[in-house]
Amino acid sequence: DKDQPSCAGCGASLQTQSKDRPGYVPASALDAEAAICQRCFRIRNYNDAVQVSMNNDEFLKLLGGIASTDSLVVHIVDLFDFEGSLISGLQRFVGNNPVLLVVNKIDLLPKGTNYNRLRNWVQRQAKAQGLRTVDVVLCSAKRGMGFDRVVEAVEQLRGQRDVYVVGATNVGKSTLINRLIADYSDLERELTVSRFPGTTLDEIRIPLDDGKSIIDTPGIVYTSRLTELVPRGVLGSLLPDKPIKSLVYQLDAGQTLFFGSLVRFDYTHGANLSFTLYTANAMKVHRTKLERADELYAQHKGVMLAPPSLEELQGIPAWTRHSLRIPRGSESDIFISGLGWIRVNGTNGAQVEVYAPKGVKVLVREALI
Ligand code: GDP
Repeated sequence: DKDQPSCAGCGASLQTQSKDRPGYVPASALDAEAAICQRCFRIRNYNDAVQVSMNNDEFLKLLGGIASTDSLVVHIVDLFDFEGSLISGLQRFVGNNPVLLVVNKIDLLPKGTNYNRLRNWVQRQAKAQGLRTVDVVLCSAKRGMGFDRVVEAVEQLRGQRDVYVVGATNVGKSTLINRLIADYSDLERELTVSRFPGTTLDEIRIPLDDGKSIIDTPGIVYTSRLTELVPRGVLGSLLPDKPIKSLVYQLDAGQTLFFGSLVRFDYTHGANLSFTLYTANAMKVHRTKLERADELYAQHKGVMLAPPSLEELQGIPAWTRHSLRIPRGSESDIFISGLGWIRVNGTNGAQVEVYAPKGVKVLVREALI
């Protein structure tokens, strides 16, 4: 119902009936000006996000609705979880509308990163996934890096059209929209920004000067991302908020790395080789011999091999094993959606095994940096 007042944070229709549904607000708080739902209130004041389940069919329906509009689609992806946050099939859903790809969180990469090279990499990967983009812009919504370019590209490409902003959860969509709002209008409206996935619930319209709008859509939840499969307490160790201090490990075949007890990495075949780890600085890495790895895990998971804690571990799907061969001839990353990636510094056809919770996307790709 479009006449229903909606939450100034997440955009959900406000209601006073059920506490575990989007938009709940106690009746006493409902008539306040610019009311926000209890959920947004809690996030803002206590950094406490209540998980409300999202319906992917609804999201796809919403995406499908974009096809019949005349608009610019801004697709935000997270550079740290590129393959995990790219909406596959976006092209199919949005029809002939142009797609601007905004790659967020570039502040996480080390100083001295070659952004031109990075942009080319993004263009190649997007194309390989069947996504036609009119432009690719790199930015950090949080640090304001590259933001002028984002605004410029949006202005240039939208003409006089609406702008739909789409993305997976946790890519920084709210942070970016907040910045757009600050740039575009005097509107004193903040959206919900939080560390927890799935916190922007409903479509929300931000009016532009020419009568058009920026339309924020709910974040789509992909369970192929580790960040969606772990309890909230573990997210802090997965999501980097500072530039990544990459770690180099020189490994012989027959050595294993544990990432807490979330992911296990075995180097099984190949010559002595260096691997560069790109994960959140808070992620704890433990090296051991492959022959000792099973025993070590059995004895120390959830304690020495943490995060997660033993209790948290119980709620996470069991591992599946991915056998990966590193191609010869070009530098590769082993990408583990939500954890980060491991750069293989050599092209000798090494063989590795990765154990990750069932469903998590694990793949070998052309090296990002
Ligand atoms: P949404 O779910 O896509 O709306 O994402 P949010 O805006 O709530 O951001 C999710 C998480 O990513 C939060 O912890 C943000 O602080 C963080 N984040 C957002 N933008 C950036 C960025 O440019 N760089 C970094 N390092 N973190 C960011």
